[in-house]
Order: sequence, then C-alpha cells, then structure tokens
Amino acid sequence: MRIVVIGSGVIGASIAYHLARAGAGVALVDRSGPAAMPSASWASAGGLRSQGRHAPEHAITKAAALRWTTLADELEADLEVSLGGHLHIAETAEEAAAVEARLAGDRAAGIAVARLEGAALRAAAPCLTPKAVLGAFSAGDGQAHPGRTAIAFAQAAARHGATCHFGQAARLRLVGDRATGVVLQDGGELDGDRVVLAAGAWSVAMLADLGLDLPLRWRGLQMLLSDVATPLLAPTVTAVGRNLSLKQSPSGQMMVGGRWFARPLGDRPAVEPIDAHVARQWSSAVAVVPAMARLKLAQVWAGVEAQTLDSLPLIGPAGPAGLYLATGFSNHGFQIAPEIGRLAAADMLERPQPVLEAFRVGRAMAGSDRAATFKAESCLL
Ligand SMILES: Cc1cc2nc3c(=O)[nH]c(=O)nc-3n(C[C@H](O)[C@H](O)[C@H](O)COP(=O)(O)OP(=O)(O)OC[C@H]3O[C@@H](n4cnc5c(N)ncnc54)[C@H](O)[C@@H]3O)c2cc1C
Repeated sequence: MRIVVIGSGVIGASIAYHLARAGAGVALVDRSGPAAMPSASWASAGGLRSQGRHAPEHAITKAAALRWTTLADELEADLEVSLGGHLHIAETAEEAAAVEARLAGDRAAGIAVARLEGAALRAAAPCLTPKAVLGAFSAGDGQAHPGRTAIAFAQAAARHGATCHFGQAARLRLVGDRATGVVLQDGGELDGDRVVLAAGAWSVAMLADLGLDLPLRWRGLQMLLSDVATPLLAPTVTAVGRNLSLKQSPSGQMMVGGRWFARPLGDRPAVEPIDAHVARQWSSAVAVVPAMARLKLAQVWAGVEAQTLDSLPLIGPAGPAGLYLATGFSNHGFQIAPEIGRLAAADMLERPQPVLEAFRVGRAMAGSDRAATFKAESCLL
C-alpha cells in the first residue's frame, strides 16, 4: 500500500515511521519540516503525563509510557527523555478532593499513581510552596524534547524507506470522491492509496475546504522559559487550581506552560504571545515554586494546535474515500504520539483497532449542540 502523510509533526512523523516499519510505501510531506515554528510539536512543553487523562486514552497512555522508556534506542536518537515523575498538587482542602478523585479514577484504570502528603510530598519536590497539601504522583512520567522526537520519527521513517518532501505544502488530490494522493506546492504529485491528514492546526482549513464540518478549531498557546537555575525540581508539576504546567528542562531552565492562550494573527495559523498572560503565567509558576522569584524570564514563544470540542483527537477515515484523519490532539498529544503512530498504522494496514473507536470522526461529542458556537468562540476567553 502507498500512503502519503501530510504533516511531519510528532503525530504525522510517528504514523509515517510505523507505516514504513510495517512495509508500506510512505511519502511524508511537510510545508516546512518536522517541528517547525509555529507548529504544536515545535511549541510543545514536552510533558509526558499519563495521570489525569480522559478514560478513552487510558490504554493508549499506559502503552505509550512503556514505549518512552526505550524510544530513544528504538529511534537511535537523543530525545532528552527524563522520567522524573509527574506531580499534580492541591493547595486547599477543596482542591485536595479533586486530587483524591483523580487518584481514584487513575487507580481504577490501572495507572500507577501514589498519594503524597506531608514529608513524602516535600521529599518529591522540596521547592514546592508550603501551601501544597496533597499530590498525585506518577513515577513513570516526565518529559522529552518534542522537536527532537518529531525529527527522530521522520528520520527513522526514512531509514525504513519513506521518502520525505519538506518545504512543500500539499493539498489533497481528488478523483471523483476518492483521495488518490496529493498535489505539492511546486506542482509535483504523489500517489497514494491512502492520504493521512496530520496537519495539526492547518487541518482545520484543509477540512473546511473539503466541505467537512467538524467540531474542530485551532488556537494558540504560549510558553515561558527562565534563565538557568540550580537543580530545583525533578518531577513535572501541574496544580488543580491553576493554569500551570511546570518543569525543569535538562538545560536547568524552568519551563512554564498551562492553558495560556496566545493572540491569533488572522484566519490562518499564526499567533503572538500576549504580554498580560505572560505576567500571570509567570506569577502562577512563582506561587508554586517560590524560589523561581529569583529567576529571570529568558524566552517567550507561542505555537498553534488543533482542538476538538470534546478534547479527544479525531482519528480514522473521514470525508472522501482514502482520507484518514489524525488531528485535534488538544494540548495533550505528545505523550501518546508513539502509540498513536503504531495504532494508526495497524488501523490502516491490518484491521480497525478497537481502542481507536472513541476517536472516530462520526462520534457524538459531549455537548454537541455547542459544536457550531465552539468553532466561532474566541480562544482568548
Ligand atoms: C504550547 C503547547 C504545549 C504543549 N504541551 C504538551 C505537553 O506538555 N504534553 C503533551 O502531551 N502535549 C503537549 N502539547 C500538545 C502536543 O504538542 C500536540 O498534541 C502535538 O505536538 C500535535 O502534533 P501534530 O503532529 O498533530 O501537529 P503539529 O506539530 O502542529 O504538526 C502539523 C504539521 O503539519 C504541517 N502542515 C500543515 N499544513 C500542511 C500542508 N498543507 N502540507 C504539508 N504539511 C503541512 C505543519 O508544517 C506541521 O509541521 C502542547 C501543545 C502546545 C501548542
């Protein structure tokens, strides 16, 4: 089977690698290259978090956590994988109830997560605010470098025979109601029995051009990086009561994310950071790790990603025969990317994968009455 994959972010590159490894003829196309600005895989915080996920993702996130322990060897690349655990904290009694609920849900799903309080919580992260009263700790979680990972998947795909066409935007080639390949920016064409659309934020306009009305929109998210600190924090950290994801990267810099929206620049995926959000984002990190007050803000960036109404990705056949979607990873696609690639490849080459059923395009989305307004809503709210 010949398959063209549009988009060499971490999702498209992972799918291309798994397809090529299984013997398919693969062409991987990207308008820029793997993890180029402002794609999600370029901007991503690189957090590997298996706790606190949506139920349909439990089996996938568990398998992905195992893959991350050996992925660098498998792809023959340094992915800067660091598995120092993930800690989700509560700072009040009400928030503690939310952590207890997460612990119960994750344990029922077989996610290895420990309940930490008192001295055990301090030992896991001594720099945490004294206000932290309870934590859910998943020791197998951590972080990796999204850009390196997307590049490594693409290079490994090429070693298995995939051809890479970078610096070329592609559009779907339709013959009747069938996708038969893509047309490249320079007029060249690539044939495919299947075309995978893994174009992240850009998928939104591409699907609209095909007349597919899906509850999918794109948005911008911004990230901060401090100057270099002494070793402060081993686990990655999130907090019940805050828009915050916090980690110390291998360089020693503190990386601050969370759902902080960036300003869209027009209709097509392009964004810039919002200064007022930068200030609040930074304060939120300092509140959780007070020692960060001594650090300086060194870098701010913003990237784009596709978000679905129910925050679960869209994976599977859609629209014209031959088209296969893998988009809408809604701010948590990096950790599961290795397994999404494996499952999507098996879905196309072997048989439909039951674990992907919850992500099919025709599913009823929670609150689907809201689908129309969802797309029009401002992501700044
Ligand atoms: C700021 C931020 C922080 C995040 N933090 C985390 C985290 O900590 N943990 C986690 O698990 N997830 C995180 N995520 C989510 C995760 O990064 C994304 O889910 C994932 O990177 C999505 O990858 P993708 O391949 O679908 O999209 P992208 O990486 O956006 O890739 C899409 C690719 O398609 C290409 N393309 C577009 N149009 C065309 C075309 N016409 N022809 C050819 N190529 C095209 C683009 O150039 C791009 O390379 C974060 C996301 C953001 C934005």
